[in-house]
Amino acid sequence: MPSPLLPVSPAARERARGLLEFIDASPSPWHVVASAVAMLERAGYRPLDETASWRLAPGDRCYVIRDGSTLAAFRIGQASPVEAGVRLIGAHTDSPGLRVKPRAGEARGDWLRLGVEIYGGPILATFTDRDLGLAGRVALRAPTAPLGVDSRLVRFDGPLLRIPNLAIHLNRKVNEDGLKLDRQAALPPILGAVEEGLPAAEHLTRLLAAQLAVEPADILGFDLNVYDTQPGAFFGPQQEFIADSQLDNLGSSHAALAALLDTDADPPPATSLCLLFDHEEVGSTSAKGADGSFLDDVLERIALGGGLDRADYRRMLARSVLVSADMAHAFHPGHAGAYDDQHRVHLNGGPVIKTNASQRYTTDGLSAGVFQLACERAGVPWQAYVQRTDMACGSTIGPLAASRLGLRSVDVGNPMWAMHSARESAGAADHDAMCRALMEFFRA
Ligand code: ZN
Repeated sequence: MPSPLLPVSPAARERARGLLEFIDASPSPWHVVASAVAMLERAGYRPLDETASWRLAPGDRCYVIRDGSTLAAFRIGQASPVEAGVRLIGAHTDSPGLRVKPRAGEARGDWLRLGVEIYGGPILATFTDRDLGLAGRVALRAPTAPLGVDSRLVRFDGPLLRIPNLAIHLNRKVNEDGLKLDRQAALPPILGAVEEGLPAAEHLTRLLAAQLAVEPADILGFDLNVYDTQPGAFFGPQQEFIADSQLDNLGSSHAALAALLDTDADPPPATSLCLLFDHEEVGSTSAKGADGSFLDDVLERIALGGGLDRADYRRMLARSVLVSADMAHAFHPGHAGAYDDQHRVHLNGGPVIKTNASQRYTTDGLSAGVFQLACERAGVPWQAYVQRTDMACGSTIGPLAASRLGLRSVDVGNPMWAMHSARESAGAADHDAMCRALMEFFRA
C-alpha cells in the first residue's frame, strides 16, 4: 500500500466533481465529444474541418472532430515541432455496454423490448435492475446537407428501459453459479407494453421523433447507447471515493482535456495534442479508431499546415512522445489472488504506469522514466502495474497508435475498481493527481 494515500484536498474534490459532471453530461461517445467541445470553445479553441485547408501558426488553439465521436484538440507551441516534437495524450470516448439494433422493437408476449448488441466487454450482470436511459445520435433526412443526411444528438434523460432480474425463487442457483444471461433472449431491455395498432419496430422511431420534434419519416437511422441514468457520487467515510458509469475511460479523457486547458495560461514550448478516440472497446480498427488514419492525418496536417514538408513531418514524429491514458486495475481486497503481489496498485495511490513485456502496453524503461519525471515535477506519487504472469493482459490504444507512427509511448492510467461494470469506482484524489502529472508531461 503506498503510504500515505493521497488526501482529497478541496482542489482534488473540485476536480473529481468536474469529472462526474463531465460523465453525467456524456452518456454516449457523441455526447462525450459535445461535452469536450463545450470545454474547448469556452477556452477559445476554434473548430477545424478535415475538408478545409489548414493554416496554422504558433499559439493557435484548435480542435477537429471525425464522425462526431473522435476528437483531436491541440495547441501549436512556439518551438518548431521539428526540434521539439509533439506531446500527445491519447484516451478513448467509448465505454462497453449495449447498443440498439436498427430494427429494435420486438414484441415478446405483451411486452415490447429493444433488441441490443453487446458493445465491447461489459460485465453484463451489472446492467440488470438499473435505471437505464437511451442516448446517442439520430440520422435525419436533410435535403440541403451533404449526402442529404444530417445528424442530431438525442438523449432521454430519465429512466426509460429495464433489464429485470429473474426472481431468485425462479433461479435458485444464481448465487452459486453467478448470473448468466442468454445474450439473445434475456438481454433486450423492456421498453413497455405493446401498443395496439403500432408495429413493434415503429415504437422507438415514434419516441425518437417526439424527442427531436421531427416527423418519424425523417428518421433514417440511429446510433444509440443504453446508459445508466444514475448520476455520479462520492462515497466513503471521508467521501474519498467516486462512483459513476464510464470512468473507463472518461476519467482519462477528462484529464487529458484538463491538462491541455490548464496549461493554456502559461503554454509550454512544444505543441500539445489531445486525442480522444472512439471504438477502443471494440479493437480500434475503424475510420475513427486509434488503429485508423485519424492520428496520422491530424499530425500530418499539423505539420503541413505549419509549413513543414514530408521529411520534416517524419523528423517531428521521431521527436514526439505519446502518453496513452486509460484506467488501471486497483487491488480488490476480496480477490487478492487476482494480482501480482509486487504490483498491487491502490485507489488514491496516484497515477499508474502499466507495463507488459508482450507489448499489450507500450511502456518501456525510458518512457516510464518520462512519466515518472512528470509525476515528480507535479509532486504526485506514481504506482507500477503488471498483470499476473499467469493471466492474459488487456490492452488499449497505446500499442496501435504508437506502432502506426513509430512513436515513443508510455501507458498510464488511474486505478479503479470494477472496470467495465455499469457502475465503476475510483479514488477521489487520483483524478487531480493525473491531471497535474499530464500537465507536467505537456511541459516536458
Ligand atoms: Zn479503457
